[in-house]
Amino acid sequence: MSKLQIIDLHVSVEGKEILKGVNLELNTGEFHVVMGPNGTGKSTLAATIMGHYKYQVTSGQILLDGEDVLAMSVDERSRKGLFLAMQYPSEITGVTNSDFIKTAMHARLPEGETLPLLKFIRSLDKACEELKMREDLPHRYVNEGFSGGEKKRNEILQMKLLKPKFAILDEIDSGLDVDALRIVGENVNAMKSSEFGSLIITHYERLLDYIKADYVHILMNGVVVKSGGLELMEKVDKEGYDWLKEELGLDELDDGPNISGNILGTCALKESMDKGDK
Ligand code: ADP
Ligand code: MG
Repeated sequence: MSKLQIIDLHVSVEGKEILKGVNLELNTGEFHVVMGPNGTGKSTLAATIMGHYKYQVTSGQILLDGEDVLAMSVDERSRKGLFLAMQYPSEITGVTNSDFIKTAMHARLPEGETLPLLKFIRSLDKACEELKMREDLPHRYVNEGFSGGEKKRNEILQMKLLKPKFAILDEIDSGLDVDALRIVGENVNAMKSSEFGSLIITHYERLLDYIKADYVHILMNGVVVKSGGLELMEKVDKEGYDWLKEELGLDELDDGPNISGNILGTCALKESMDKGDK
C-alpha cells in the first residue's frame, strides 16, 4: 500500500497565492473526488503535485510514502508512480502516440532492461480496445487533430499502460459524450486496487455513476473547506455552492476582506477531525 500526503500546501503562480494551505491524504485503494467552483485552484493542485515549473510552492509538503515529492524532478515523480491526466492535454507534433507511450514505459524500467516489442504492442492493442479507441490512434501524432473526447481517452490510455500508484485526473469527464463517459469511467474504476488510488477532479456527479469514489473534498479559495462522502457531491449537484459559501460566511469567491486561507483551512481541518475523517 502507498500513501500520498499533501500537507499545508501553499502555492503561488506568477506572484499570486492560489493554494493557501491544502491538506489531503490519499492511500492506494481509495478514490478521492475534488470539486469546487472555477478558478479555485484544482488544476493548480494537480500541476503542483506533478511538478509544473510555473507553480511555486512557498510552503508545505508533498510526500509519497514519506519521500519528499517536491525535491523530485517531474520524470522522477512519474517513475515513483505519480500520473497526471491533464485538463487540457497537449498536442505533440512529430511524435506518434505509440512511440510516446513506449518511451514513457521504457523510462520506468530498471537500467539495462528493455520492453519486449511484442509485449508492448499486445498491451497497447488491449488497452485501445478496452477504451474503444479508433485503430489508427496509436499511429497518429500525440493528440494532434484528436477530438476533445479522444484526447481525454488518450490520457486514460497512458494511465492504463503506465500503471501509476496515484493518478490525478483533472476533469477527465469534460467534453465526453455519454458513451465515452461510461467507457472512461469504467476503465478508471477497473484500475482500483490496493496498488492504485486516484484524485479525481470533477464538476459532475454523473462520472461517479461509473467510478466508485470514497471521499469528496470541496476546494474553495485555495483551501479544502469541506470533506465528506458522496452525499456532499449530491448536495453540490443539486444546490450548487451557495449554501456552503453561506455556511462559511463567504460572499465572493475571491480574496474578500472576510476570508483568510488560514481560517478556512482550520475550519475544514477541525471539521474533518471532529468527524474522524482523513
Ligand atoms: P480551477 O482548476 O479550480 O478552475 P486553476 O487552478 O486553473 O483553477 O486556477 C486558479 C487560479 O490560478 C486562477 O485565478 C487562474 O487564473 C490562476 N492560474 C492558474 N494557472 C495559472 C498560470 N499558469 N498562469 C497564471 N495564472 C494561473
Ligand atoms: Mg481546472
